[in-house]
Amino acid sequence: MDGEVRWRVFHESGIYLFDDSNAVFMDPVRVLNRWYQGFSVSPSTYYSRFLKSPTPNPTVINVSSGKRKRKPKEPPPLNERELVALRRHQEARPLLVAAHECLLKSTQLLNALKILKSEPTRLSTCLNGQRSFVDLQQVAPQLELTLSLRVGDAHALQPHNHSQDSPSAQCCEQKVFPAFNNLVANDTKYDAVAEILNNRYILPRESCFYMSDLGQIRNLIPAHADSGFNLIIVDPPWENASAHQKSRYPTLPNRYFLSLPIKQLTHSEGALVALWVTNREKLRCFVENELFPAWGVSYAANFYWLKVKENGSWICDLDLFHHRPYECLILGYSPGKVNNTDNQSKFEPVNNDRVIMSIPGDYSRKPPIADLLLEYLPGIKPPRCIELFAREVMAGCVAWGNEPLYFQDPKYFVKK
Ligand code: SAM
Repeated sequence: MDGEVRWRVFHESGIYLFDDSNAVFMDPVRVLNRWYQGFSVSPSTYYSRFLKSPTPNPTVINVSSGKRKRKPKEPPPLNERELVALRRHQEARPLLVAAHECLLKSTQLLNALKILKSEPTRLSTCLNGQRSFVDLQQVAPQLELTLSLRVGDAHALQPHNHSQDSPSAQCCEQKVFPAFNNLVANDTKYDAVAEILNNRYILPRESCFYMSDLGQIRNLIPAHADSGFNLIIVDPPWENASAHQKSRYPTLPNRYFLSLPIKQLTHSEGALVALWVTNREKLRCFVENELFPAWGVSYAANFYWLKVKENGSWICDLDLFHHRPYECLILGYSPGKVNNTDNQSKFEPVNNDRVIMSIPGDYSRKPPIADLLLEYLPGIKPPRCIELFAREVMAGCVAWGNEPLYFQDPKYFVKK
Protein backbone atom coordinates (compact mmCIF):
# COMPACT_ATOMS: atom_id res chain seq x y z
CA MET A 1 0.00 0.00 0.00
CA ASP A 2 1.22 3.45 -0.91
CA GLY A 3 2.51 5.41 2.12
CA GLU A 4 0.11 8.29 1.64
CA VAL A 5 -2.89 5.98 1.33
CA ARG A 6 -1.78 4.07 4.43
CA TRP A 7 -1.58 7.35 6.34
CA ARG A 8 -4.99 8.48 5.16
CA VAL A 9 -6.50 5.12 6.15
CA PHE A 10 -4.95 5.52 9.62
CA HIS A 11 -6.42 9.01 10.02
CA GLU A 12 -9.85 7.92 8.92
CA SER A 13 -10.06 4.51 10.58
CA GLY A 14 -7.53 4.53 13.43
CA ILE A 15 -5.88 1.42 11.93
CA TYR A 16 -2.34 1.51 10.49
CA LEU A 17 -1.47 -1.41 8.21
CA PHE A 18 2.12 -2.55 7.65
CA ASP A 19 3.24 -4.08 4.35
CA ASP A 20 3.76 -7.86 4.24
CA SER A 21 2.96 -8.22 7.90
CA ASN A 22 0.34 -9.76 10.15
CA ALA A 23 0.66 -6.73 12.37
CA VAL A 24 -1.47 -3.61 12.64
CA PHE A 25 -1.19 -0.56 14.86
CA MET A 26 -4.40 0.82 16.34
CA ASP A 27 -5.22 4.20 17.84
CA PRO A 28 -8.37 3.26 19.80
CA VAL A 29 -9.30 6.92 20.28
CA ARG A 30 -9.52 7.43 16.50
CA VAL A 31 -11.51 4.19 16.14
CA LEU A 32 -14.00 5.23 18.84
CA ASN A 33 -14.34 8.77 17.53
CA ARG A 34 -15.84 7.57 14.28
CA TRP A 35 -19.03 6.94 16.26
CA TYR A 36 -19.56 10.41 17.75
CA GLN A 37 -20.53 13.78 16.24
CA GLY A 38 -20.89 16.29 19.09
CA PHE A 39 -18.27 14.78 21.38
CA SER A 40 -14.98 13.03 20.98
CA VAL A 41 -13.10 10.65 23.21
CA SER A 42 -10.42 12.42 25.23
CA PRO A 43 -6.96 11.07 24.26
CA SER A 44 -5.31 12.32 27.45
CA THR A 45 -7.86 10.49 29.62
CA TYR A 46 -7.85 7.39 27.45
CA TYR A 47 -4.07 7.16 27.43
CA SER A 48 -3.46 8.55 30.92
CA ARG A 49 -1.75 5.37 32.16
CA PHE A 50 1.00 5.38 29.55
CA LEU A 51 1.39 9.02 28.58
CA LYS A 52 2.26 10.23 32.07
CA SER A 53 5.96 10.81 32.07
CA PRO A 54 8.57 11.01 29.35
CA THR A 55 10.07 7.60 28.67
CA PRO A 56 13.49 6.96 27.20
CA ASN A 57 13.81 6.22 23.52
CA PRO A 58 13.49 2.45 22.90
CA THR A 59 16.68 2.38 20.86
CA VAL A 60 18.79 3.89 23.65
CA ILE A 61 20.77 1.24 25.50
CA ASN A 62 21.16 1.50 29.28
CA VAL A 63 24.36 3.29 30.21
CA SER A 64 26.14 1.83 33.23
CA SER A 65 26.26 4.21 36.23
CA GLY A 66 29.62 2.81 37.26
CA LYS A 67 28.22 1.34 40.51
CA ARG A 68 28.70 -2.39 41.06
CA LYS A 69 25.39 -4.13 40.53
CA ARG A 70 24.24 -7.04 42.68
CA LYS A 71 24.08 -10.34 40.88
CA PRO A 72 20.36 -11.11 40.29
CA LYS A 73 19.00 -14.07 42.28
CA GLU A 74 18.58 -17.33 40.37
CA PRO A 75 14.83 -17.82 39.79
CA PRO A 76 13.34 -21.11 41.09
CA PRO A 77 12.99 -23.85 38.45
CA LEU A 78 9.75 -23.77 36.43
CA ASN A 79 7.01 -26.32 37.11
CA GLU A 80 5.31 -28.28 34.33
CA ARG A 81 2.58 -25.72 33.68
CA GLU A 82 5.06 -22.88 33.64
CA LEU A 83 7.13 -24.76 31.09
CA VAL A 84 4.11 -25.04 28.78
CA ALA A 85 3.50 -21.30 29.24
CA LEU A 86 7.14 -20.62 28.39
CA ARG A 87 6.81 -22.71 25.23
CA ARG A 88 3.75 -20.73 24.17
CA HIS A 89 5.68 -17.52 24.79
CA GLN A 90 8.65 -18.73 22.78
CA GLU A 91 6.35 -19.57 19.87
CA ALA A 92 4.79 -16.12 20.00
CA ARG A 93 8.08 -14.26 20.49
CA PRO A 94 9.38 -14.06 16.88
CA LEU A 95 5.98 -12.86 15.72
CA LEU A 96 5.80 -10.16 18.38
CA VAL A 97 9.36 -9.04 17.72
CA ALA A 98 8.68 -8.81 13.97
CA ALA A 99 5.50 -6.78 14.56
CA HIS A 100 7.34 -4.47 16.93
CA GLU A 101 10.12 -3.94 14.40
CA CYS A 102 7.52 -2.80 11.86
CA LEU A 103 6.35 -0.18 14.36
CA LEU A 104 9.88 1.01 15.21
CA LYS A 105 10.70 1.39 11.51
CA SER A 106 7.70 3.60 10.88
CA THR A 107 9.01 7.06 11.80
CA GLN A 108 5.82 8.75 10.65
CA LEU A 109 3.73 6.62 13.02
CA LEU A 110 6.16 7.02 15.94
CA ASN A 111 6.03 10.79 15.51
CA ALA A 112 2.24 10.69 15.53
CA LEU A 113 2.22 8.76 18.83
CA LYS A 114 4.06 11.60 20.54
CA ILE A 115 1.17 14.01 20.01
CA LEU A 116 -1.63 11.57 20.76
CA LYS A 117 -2.58 13.19 24.02
CA SER A 118 -2.87 16.80 22.85
CA GLU A 119 -6.51 17.82 22.94
CA PRO A 120 -9.06 20.60 23.46
CA THR A 121 -10.92 21.29 26.73
CA ARG A 122 -12.28 18.30 28.54
CA LEU A 123 -16.01 18.12 29.32
CA SER A 124 -15.46 17.17 32.91
CA THR A 125 -12.41 16.47 35.00
CA CYS A 126 -14.00 14.17 37.54
CA LEU A 127 -16.17 11.12 37.27
CA ASN A 128 -19.90 11.45 37.83
CA GLY A 129 -20.24 11.56 41.58
CA GLN A 130 -22.31 8.44 42.00
CA ARG A 131 -21.82 5.03 43.52
CA SER A 132 -20.74 2.20 41.26
CA PHE A 133 -23.42 0.71 39.00
CA VAL A 134 -22.93 -2.62 40.78
CA ASP A 135 -23.88 -1.05 44.17
CA LEU A 136 -26.61 1.04 42.62
CA GLN A 137 -28.34 -1.94 41.08
CA GLN A 138 -28.47 -3.60 44.48
CA VAL A 139 -29.85 -0.64 46.42
CA ALA A 140 -32.10 0.84 43.71
CA PRO A 141 -32.99 -1.86 41.16
CA GLN A 142 -36.03 0.12 39.94
CA LEU A 143 -34.02 3.23 39.09
CA GLU A 144 -35.00 5.08 35.90
CA LEU A 145 -32.89 6.48 33.12
CA THR A 146 -33.78 9.36 30.80
CA LEU A 147 -32.53 9.07 27.26
CA SER A 148 -32.23 12.30 25.24
CA LEU A 149 -32.19 11.61 21.54
CA ARG A 150 -31.67 13.99 18.68
CA VAL A 151 -34.67 13.85 16.39
CA GLY A 152 -35.28 15.04 12.83
CA ASP A 153 -33.20 18.05 11.84
CA ALA A 154 -32.56 19.21 15.40
CA HIS A 155 -28.98 20.28 16.15
CA ALA A 156 -26.59 17.75 17.58
CA LEU A 157 -26.71 17.24 21.33
CA GLN A 158 -24.79 20.16 22.69
CA PRO A 159 -22.79 20.75 25.82
CA HIS A 160 -24.58 22.96 28.43
CA ASN A 161 -24.88 26.66 27.54
CA HIS A 162 -24.33 27.81 31.10
CA SER A 163 -22.00 25.14 32.39
CA GLN A 164 -18.87 23.92 30.67
CA ASP A 165 -18.74 20.88 32.87
CA SER A 166 -21.24 18.40 31.63
CA PRO A 167 -22.99 17.46 28.43
CA SER A 168 -26.71 17.93 28.14
CA ALA A 169 -29.28 17.44 25.45
CA GLN A 170 -31.22 20.15 23.61
CA CYS A 171 -33.73 19.96 20.76
CA CYS A 172 -34.41 16.36 21.42
CA GLU A 173 -36.91 13.72 22.29
CA GLN A 174 -36.73 12.30 25.81
CA LYS A 175 -37.62 8.74 26.73
CA VAL A 176 -37.67 7.16 30.18
CA PHE A 177 -36.57 3.56 30.71
CA PRO A 178 -35.73 1.31 33.65
CA ALA A 179 -31.95 1.68 34.03
CA PHE A 180 -31.33 -1.98 34.92
CA ASN A 181 -32.44 -5.27 33.35
CA ASN A 182 -33.66 -3.46 30.28
CA LEU A 183 -32.43 -2.93 26.73
CA VAL A 184 -31.78 0.78 26.19
CA ALA A 185 -31.26 1.72 22.54
CA ASN A 186 -30.07 4.83 20.77
CA ASP A 187 -31.34 3.85 17.35
CA THR A 188 -30.65 7.28 15.83
CA LYS A 189 -27.65 8.19 13.67
CA TYR A 190 -26.51 10.72 16.31
CA ASP A 191 -24.98 10.83 19.79
CA ALA A 192 -27.45 10.53 22.65
CA VAL A 193 -27.23 11.32 26.35
CA ALA A 194 -28.48 8.98 29.08
CA GLU A 195 -29.14 10.46 32.52
CA ILE A 196 -29.27 8.47 35.74
CA LEU A 197 -29.63 10.27 39.09
CA ASN A 198 -28.46 13.58 37.55
CA ASN A 199 -25.36 11.94 36.10
CA ARG A 200 -25.00 11.94 32.33
CA TYR A 201 -23.49 9.37 29.99
CA ILE A 202 -22.72 9.89 26.33
CA LEU A 203 -23.91 7.21 23.92
CA PRO A 204 -22.66 6.72 20.36
CA ARG A 205 -25.00 6.48 17.39
CA GLU A 206 -26.88 3.22 16.72
CA SER A 207 -25.89 1.57 19.95
CA CYS A 208 -27.61 -0.19 22.80
CA PHE A 209 -26.82 -1.55 26.21
CA TYR A 210 -28.32 -3.87 28.79
CA MET A 211 -27.09 -3.27 32.33
CA SER A 212 -27.60 -6.30 34.57
CA ASP A 213 -25.96 -9.01 36.59
CA LEU A 214 -25.04 -12.34 34.98
CA GLY A 215 -28.28 -13.80 36.42
CA GLN A 216 -30.31 -11.84 33.84
CA ILE A 217 -28.18 -12.46 30.74
CA ARG A 218 -30.68 -14.95 29.34
CA ASN A 219 -33.09 -12.05 28.73
CA LEU A 220 -30.84 -11.17 25.78
CA ILE A 221 -31.45 -14.49 24.01
CA PRO A 222 -33.37 -13.66 20.84
CA ALA A 223 -36.75 -15.34 20.24
CA HIS A 224 -35.51 -16.54 16.82
CA ALA A 225 -31.95 -17.54 15.95
CA ASP A 226 -32.28 -15.39 12.80
CA SER A 227 -32.05 -12.36 15.10
CA GLY A 228 -29.01 -13.73 16.89
CA PHE A 229 -25.47 -12.33 16.77
CA ASN A 230 -22.66 -13.16 14.35
CA LEU A 231 -19.93 -11.49 16.39
CA ILE A 232 -19.74 -12.25 20.12
CA ILE A 233 -16.92 -10.50 22.00
CA VAL A 234 -16.33 -11.75 25.55
CA ASP A 235 -14.02 -10.21 28.15
CA PRO A 236 -14.83 -12.13 31.34
CA PRO A 237 -13.97 -10.87 34.82
CA TRP A 238 -11.43 -13.69 35.27
CA GLU A 239 -10.23 -14.17 38.82
CA ASN A 240 -6.64 -13.02 39.21
CA ALA A 241 -4.54 -11.38 41.85
CA SER A 242 -4.24 -8.16 39.92
CA ALA A 243 -7.98 -7.50 39.47
CA HIS A 244 -8.53 -8.35 43.13
CA GLN A 245 -5.71 -6.15 44.34
CA LYS A 246 -6.87 -3.17 42.40
CA SER A 247 -10.55 -4.04 43.12
CA ARG A 248 -11.62 -2.26 39.98
CA TYR A 249 -14.51 -4.65 39.36
CA PRO A 250 -15.91 -7.86 40.84
CA THR A 251 -14.49 -11.09 39.42
CA LEU A 252 -16.12 -14.53 39.02
CA PRO A 253 -14.82 -18.11 39.30
CA ASN A 254 -14.36 -19.86 35.94
CA ARG A 255 -17.33 -22.20 36.38
CA TYR A 256 -19.74 -19.25 35.98
CA PHE A 257 -18.59 -18.71 32.40
CA LEU A 258 -19.41 -22.30 31.38
CA SER A 259 -23.11 -21.46 31.39
CA LEU A 260 -22.89 -18.27 29.29
CA PRO A 261 -25.60 -18.80 26.62
CA ILE A 262 -23.23 -18.49 23.64
CA LYS A 263 -25.15 -21.07 21.57
CA GLN A 264 -28.45 -19.30 22.16
CA LEU A 265 -27.02 -15.89 21.30
CA THR A 266 -25.54 -17.19 18.03
CA HIS A 267 -27.14 -16.24 14.73
CA SER A 268 -28.63 -19.15 12.78
CA GLU A 269 -25.74 -18.85 10.29
CA GLY A 270 -23.10 -18.97 13.02
CA ALA A 271 -20.94 -16.52 14.93
CA LEU A 272 -17.31 -15.64 15.44
CA VAL A 273 -16.56 -15.71 19.17
CA ALA A 274 -13.64 -13.49 20.30
CA LEU A 275 -12.53 -14.23 23.85
CA TRP A 276 -9.97 -12.13 25.76
CA VAL A 277 -7.72 -14.23 28.02
CA THR A 278 -4.81 -13.49 30.31
CA ASN A 279 -1.48 -15.30 29.95
CA ARG A 280 -2.10 -17.71 32.83
CA GLU A 281 -1.54 -21.23 31.53
CA LYS A 282 -4.27 -22.63 33.81
CA LEU A 283 -6.76 -20.30 32.15
CA ARG A 284 -5.62 -21.22 28.63
CA CYS A 285 -6.13 -24.92 29.47
CA PHE A 286 -9.58 -24.16 30.90
CA VAL A 287 -10.60 -22.35 27.70
CA GLU A 288 -9.28 -25.05 25.37
CA ASN A 289 -10.45 -28.10 27.32
CA GLU A 290 -13.63 -26.94 29.06
CA LEU A 291 -14.98 -23.53 28.06
CA PHE A 292 -15.01 -23.72 24.24
CA PRO A 293 -16.33 -27.33 24.30
CA ALA A 294 -19.10 -26.28 26.77
CA TRP A 295 -20.07 -23.40 24.45
CA GLY A 296 -19.92 -25.66 21.35
CA VAL A 297 -17.25 -23.34 19.91
CA SER A 298 -14.47 -24.67 17.67
CA TYR A 299 -11.04 -23.02 17.92
CA ALA A 300 -10.10 -20.86 14.90
CA ALA A 301 -7.07 -18.70 15.72
CA ASN A 302 -5.10 -16.74 18.24
CA PHE A 303 -4.44 -12.99 17.96
CA TYR A 304 -2.05 -11.01 20.18
CA TRP A 305 -2.59 -7.55 21.61
CA LEU A 306 0.87 -6.06 22.06
CA LYS A 307 0.93 -3.07 24.41
CA VAL A 308 3.36 -0.25 23.67
CA LYS A 309 4.20 3.16 25.10
CA GLU A 310 4.08 6.46 23.24
CA ASN A 311 7.73 6.10 22.23
CA GLY A 312 7.00 2.70 20.69
CA SER A 313 8.74 0.61 23.37
CA TRP A 314 6.95 -2.36 24.98
CA ILE A 315 5.17 -1.45 28.23
CA CYS A 316 7.43 -3.93 30.04
CA ASP A 317 10.16 -6.40 29.17
CA LEU A 318 8.93 -8.96 26.61
CA ASP A 319 10.41 -11.86 28.57
CA LEU A 320 9.19 -11.02 32.09
CA PHE A 321 7.65 -14.32 33.14
CA HIS A 322 4.69 -13.12 35.22
CA HIS A 323 3.97 -9.88 33.42
CA ARG A 324 4.01 -9.94 29.65
CA PRO A 325 3.47 -6.83 27.50
CA TYR A 326 0.78 -8.70 25.53
CA GLU A 327 -2.57 -10.42 25.97
CA CYS A 328 -4.35 -12.94 23.77
CA LEU A 329 -7.62 -12.91 21.92
CA ILE A 330 -8.77 -16.44 21.18
CA LEU A 331 -11.10 -16.78 18.21
CA GLY A 332 -13.55 -19.59 17.60
CA TYR A 333 -16.68 -20.34 15.63
CA SER A 334 -20.08 -21.05 17.14
CA PRO A 335 -21.93 -23.09 14.51
CA GLY A 336 -25.43 -21.63 14.82
CA LYS A 337 -28.51 -23.65 14.07
CA VAL A 338 -27.12 -25.97 11.41
CA ASN A 339 -24.80 -27.88 13.66
CA ASN A 340 -23.06 -30.15 11.19
CA THR A 341 -19.59 -30.45 9.71
CA ASP A 342 -20.72 -28.81 6.47
CA ASN A 343 -21.56 -25.65 8.32
CA GLN A 344 -18.20 -25.66 10.10
CA SER A 345 -16.30 -25.90 6.83
CA LYS A 346 -18.17 -22.86 5.51
CA PHE A 347 -16.50 -20.60 8.07
CA GLU A 348 -13.65 -18.38 6.84
CA PRO A 349 -10.24 -19.69 7.89
CA VAL A 350 -8.79 -17.00 10.17
CA ASN A 351 -5.24 -15.74 9.65
CA ASN A 352 -3.56 -17.10 12.74
CA ASP A 353 -1.22 -15.10 14.93
CA ARG A 354 -2.19 -11.57 14.01
CA VAL A 355 -0.62 -8.86 16.18
CA ILE A 356 -2.58 -5.75 17.15
CA MET A 357 -0.38 -3.03 18.68
CA SER A 358 -1.73 -0.10 20.66
CA ILE A 359 -1.10 2.12 23.66
CA PRO A 360 -3.31 0.71 26.43
CA GLY A 361 -6.09 2.67 28.06
CA ASP A 362 -7.42 2.32 31.60
CA TYR A 363 -6.90 -0.80 33.67
CA SER A 364 -8.18 -3.84 31.68
CA ARG A 365 -9.69 -1.65 28.93
CA LYS A 366 -9.39 -3.53 25.64
CA PRO A 367 -8.92 -1.96 22.21
CA PRO A 368 -12.06 -1.88 20.00
CA ILE A 369 -11.27 -4.85 17.78
CA ALA A 370 -14.61 -5.42 15.99
CA ASP A 371 -13.47 -3.82 12.70
CA LEU A 372 -10.45 -6.12 12.48
CA LEU A 373 -12.72 -9.16 12.67
CA LEU A 374 -15.32 -8.20 10.06
CA GLU A 375 -13.76 -10.25 7.25
CA TYR A 376 -14.14 -13.46 9.27
CA LEU A 377 -17.79 -13.11 10.27
CA PRO A 378 -20.25 -15.66 8.98
CA GLY A 379 -23.72 -14.64 7.85
CA ILE A 380 -25.44 -11.32 7.68
CA LYS A 381 -24.05 -7.86 6.96
CA PRO A 382 -24.00 -5.36 8.53
CA PRO A 383 -22.97 -7.65 11.36
CA ARG A 384 -24.93 -8.11 14.54
CA CYS A 385 -22.49 -7.73 17.39
CA ILE A 386 -22.75 -8.24 21.14
CA GLU A 387 -20.06 -7.61 23.75
CA LEU A 388 -20.35 -9.55 27.00
CA PHE A 389 -18.97 -7.95 30.20
CA ALA A 390 -18.65 -4.61 28.39
CA ARG A 391 -17.63 -1.38 30.11
CA GLU A 392 -18.32 0.84 27.12
CA VAL A 393 -20.97 1.17 24.46
CA MET A 394 -19.98 0.77 20.81
CA ALA A 395 -21.87 1.80 17.69
CA GLY A 396 -23.60 -1.11 15.99
CA CYS A 397 -23.19 -3.36 19.01
CA VAL A 398 -25.15 -4.45 22.10
CA ALA A 399 -23.11 -3.87 25.27
CA TRP A 400 -24.00 -6.14 28.17
CA GLY A 401 -22.49 -6.21 31.66
CA ASN A 402 -23.03 -4.78 35.12
CA GLU A 403 -21.36 -1.45 34.20
CA PRO A 404 -21.61 -0.90 30.41
CA LEU A 405 -21.78 2.90 30.89
CA TYR A 406 -18.47 3.08 32.79
CA PHE A 407 -16.43 4.66 29.96
CA GLN A 408 -19.39 6.71 28.68
CA ASP A 409 -18.86 9.15 31.55
CA PRO A 410 -18.23 12.78 30.34
CA LYS A 411 -14.83 12.53 32.01
CA TYR A 412 -13.70 10.47 29.03
CA PHE A 413 -14.86 12.96 26.39
CA VAL A 414 -13.97 16.37 24.99
CA LYS A 415 -16.06 18.95 23.15
CA LYS A 416 -15.85 18.86 19.39
N1 SAM B 1 -13.94 -5.30 28.14
C1 SAM B 1 -13.97 -4.34 29.21
C2 SAM B 1 -13.16 -3.12 28.82
O1 SAM B 1 -12.52 -3.15 27.74
O2 SAM B 1 -13.16 -2.15 29.55
C3 SAM B 1 -13.42 -4.90 30.49
C4 SAM B 1 -14.32 -5.92 31.10
S1 SAM B 1 -13.77 -6.40 32.68
C5 SAM B 1 -12.53 -7.55 32.31
C6 SAM B 1 -15.07 -7.43 33.25
C7 SAM B 1 -16.40 -6.73 33.55
O3 SAM B 1 -17.33 -7.73 34.01
C8 SAM B 1 -16.34 -5.67 34.64
O4 SAM B 1 -17.00 -4.52 34.19
C9 SAM B 1 -17.14 -6.29 35.79
O5 SAM B 1 -17.81 -5.33 36.60
C10 SAM B 1 -18.13 -7.14 35.03
N2 SAM B 1 -18.74 -8.18 35.88
C11 SAM B 1 -18.21 -8.79 36.96
N3 SAM B 1 -19.10 -9.61 37.53
C12 SAM B 1 -20.25 -9.52 36.79
C13 SAM B 1 -21.54 -10.12 36.90
N4 SAM B 1 -21.82 -10.99 37.87
N5 SAM B 1 -22.47 -9.78 36.01
C14 SAM B 1 -22.19 -8.88 35.01
N6 SAM B 1 -20.99 -8.29 34.86
C15 SAM B 1 -20.02 -8.60 35.73
